[in-house]
Amino acid sequence: MTTSRKALIIGCGIAGPVVALFLQQVGIDAEIYESQPAGRDEAGAFLNLAPNGVNVLKALDIDHLLAADGFHSVGMDFFNGDGKLLAQLESSDEEERFGSRNVMIKRGRLQQVLRDEAIRRNIPVQYGKKLTGIQLNGFQNITARFEDGTSAEGNFLIGCDGIHSRTRQLILPNAPRPAYTGMVDCGGFAQCPAGLSTSGAMQMIFGKKAFFGYIAKPDGEVYWFSNVPWPKEPKRHELNAISADAWRQQLLHNHGNDPAPVPEIIESTPGEIGKWPVYDMPSLPTWHKGLVCLVGDAAHATSPHSGQGASLALEDAAVLAQCLRDSLKVEHGFAKFESLRRERVEKIVKQARRTGNGKMVTNPVAVWFRDLVLPFFIKQGAKASEEVLSYKVDWEKEVA
Ligand SMILES: Cc1cc2nc3c(=O)[nH]c(=O)nc-3n(C[C@H](O)[C@H](O)[C@H](O)COP(=O)(O)OP(=O)(O)OC[C@H]3O[C@@H](n4cnc5c(N)ncnc54)[C@H](O)[C@@H]3O)c2cc1C
Repeated sequence: MTTSRKALIIGCGIAGPVVALFLQQVGIDAEIYESQPAGRDEAGAFLNLAPNGVNVLKALDIDHLLAADGFHSVGMDFFNGDGKLLAQLESSDEEERFGSRNVMIKRGRLQQVLRDEAIRRNIPVQYGKKLTGIQLNGFQNITARFEDGTSAEGNFLIGCDGIHSRTRQLILPNAPRPAYTGMVDCGGFAQCPAGLSTSGAMQMIFGKKAFFGYIAKPDGEVYWFSNVPWPKEPKRHELNAISADAWRQQLLHNHGNDPAPVPEIIESTPGEIGKWPVYDMPSLPTWHKGLVCLVGDAAHATSPHSGQGASLALEDAAVLAQCLRDSLKVEHGFAKFESLRRERVEKIVKQARRTGNGKMVTNPVAVWFRDLVLPFFIKQGAKASEEVLSYKVDWEKEVA
């Protein structure tokens, strides 16, 4: 059993609060430091929390907190750019197969629910604390320095600061950087265009110029995304310089010839449509150094095509706490954590990259071939995803 007792957690996104909650379960105090000035509860688009991720929240008895804002997808229907149905995936039986159902939820709401629960369980969360430096003080003490000139001390530090992790840059300055995947993701929320079916399944369209996905909530609100091929990595200021109107026109140009209601959804989306260049993380030489460990996207970000990034971050949180619970030394706990997690997550990152590449096919011959073989690959993919979705953390099991 480790004797170190206070964790500094960097980042209050998805992993941060859940790491803190699991550490609390094993008697380790944690404080969370988030760079943003306040919770961004309305920011971002939406995500699908897969059954394996929901099962992690169940272990903390907080899965029910998603009920107010989340809803379940009953499957996926795949279409080509002419509106021809290519394949279907059923997921309404996930409860029996995996012990939980997926939850579609707005990113900001998910973060809010997790953070509020951490605060309710007396875990301090400090905003406006952007990590800039780390200093080791002997074998069991570490100082985190923040941009505002303040600092915090603890016995170890967990970097939950996402794909562009500052923690990673500090402990592994020569590690590979996030890899751009050749695509900009965008999406938003719209009111249901007239005549739109609300079947409850995610509609996935291999559009003529870009991939489009949408699902209608039972109350009629449509959650949607588009994967826009963008070969050269854009700079953030370049994307920010595109006006809301110009971006909408660009999306309508990409999807104007795709089957209804794709253009109508774009047209009926109010306000600015968010846009995010898509990255994943090449394999890192290690996920930890001394009294510092990386978790979630900081260690192994996957592109969104797996629908697994958030769930993997949640799995990490539980496994890390388990490893620290059962290890005599913090460093041993970190090493055990990495050994238990690396193979699973890196396999998923690679598969997501392949899925993403498959979405960018536009050559007519390749499109013809894709339409032909897609039903087979969807079936194969569904079999392979059984292993991903059925993962459960065995919390009681001793791991060290
Ligand atoms: C467009 C898109 C769609 C996605 N869709 C899905 C999906 O459907 N399903 C799914 O499971 N996953 C999805 N993902 C992946 C998922 O969002 C991530 O895997 C998940 O957010 C990782 O959680 P995290 O806590 O590791 O990082 P994050 O959620 O990124 O949280 C990191 C936090 O650290 C803070 N931070 C950053 N730097 C510092 C610093 N220096 N000091 C202090 N704080 C800092 C940030 O402000 C942030 O709050 C998607 C990702 C994208 C980009």
